[in-house]
Amino acid sequence: MKQIYFDNNATAEMLTEVRDAMLPLIGGAYNASSVHGIGRATKALIEVARGNILAAIGAAKAKYNLVFTASATEANNLLIDNFADSHIFISAIEHPSIDRPAADKALVTKIKVDADGLLDLTHLEQELARSKAGKKLVSIICANNETGVIQDVSAILKLTRHYNAIFHTDAVQAFGRIEINIKNLDIDLLTISGHKCGGPAGVGVLIYKRDLKLLPQILGGGQELGLRSGTENVTAIVGMGKLAELLPQVVNRYARIRTLRDSLEDAISDIAPIKIFGKEVVRLPNTSCITMPHINNDVQMINFDLSGFAISAGSACSSGKIETSSVLLAMGVDENEAKCAIRISLGLSNTDKEIKEFVTTWRTIYSRLSDGFNEQDQLVQRGFLQQPDNNNNYIH
Ligand code: PLP
Repeated sequence: MKQIYFDNNATAEMLTEVRDAMLPLIGGAYNASSVHGIGRATKALIEVARGNILAAIGAAKAKYNLVFTASATEANNLLIDNFADSHIFISAIEHPSIDRPAADKALVTKIKVDADGLLDLTHLEQELARSKAGKKLVSIICANNETGVIQDVSAILKLTRHYNAIFHTDAVQAFGRIEINIKNLDIDLLTISGHKCGGPAGVGVLIYKRDLKLLPQILGGGQELGLRSGTENVTAIVGMGKLAELLPQVVNRYARIRTLRDSLEDAISDIAPIKIFGKEVVRLPNTSCITMPHINNDVQMINFDLSGFAISAGSACSSGKIETSSVLLAMGVDENEAKCAIRISLGLSNTDKEIKEFVTTWRTIYSRLSDGFNEQDQLVQRGFLQQPDNNNNYIH
């Protein structure tokens, strides 16, 4: 079934130029560790991609290294594992690929965010000042995957420097959507992914200052500066390199997407008293986290799905079950309201017509569900829920 795709923060459609750069490599035999001509040519392709990505974010080769991994999740795990002996400070709204590995470490402090989803700098300062640890890492998500809220990285960095901590940012959602210049900000480490704004899945990147001595998580043939063994996914790396080459144009194209996102929010605000999370602060141009008053997001999701729209609730876990968003709860949003929030994340190919269709659908779904219509019974009929039990609870 053809659906209108509004779930680009989960993964995005590949740019034609990226696909065209990758296609000639599919089906070939490319191992960058081989010493023959094809192997050397493969290595050269990887080095071009590495150079493109470093250049795209203003990271001088003399100062930064870049290691390719199989995903940003792996890059984030590699980062956190390398600071297991440090006091780690993360925000309360990190992606699980930071939050989960950090949870295992000896000394971790979670820093609060405010109602807009911005890091509480006073809390960070208090905790940094209190810490007696010799080594400290501050790792803060650059742009949140659920709300799109962008942190004030330069203010966080200033504090970090004052307390002699190392600074990392997970820029997976920001890369390609807003300009990131690592040089201006003097970031120590940064994670990005291939697949959120037109590159391929299956490749992640950790960029780090050369004077940081990192240790590998995966041992073997010693590829990627010895930091990430395993034969490189050269096709995906070349695709990501192509994306990096196109980056300034890609970022510019998000100006149109911002207009579409804003028109969608304005139109829906005219229909009902919705809440738009992070609306008062700087956000990614493509992301909108909005409520439909009193309608749970699982019910909304099914209705939008049946109406031909691929959207998401902020925090579907890998089993597809929707959990209440820990990001919204950390922002102090009431649990019942958080349960009514969905995430719309636009991509470069979305059109004004699609936005208008979505707004019409939103109005229809809202008036139907808020009009005494028994949604639960309807879902039972369609097989999404089981009949209620004796206590009248519907079972998912
Ligand atoms: N960090 C953030 C903020 C993300 O949104 C995601 C993916 O959704 C990741 C990390 C993990 O990226 P990957 O899919 O490349 O593992």
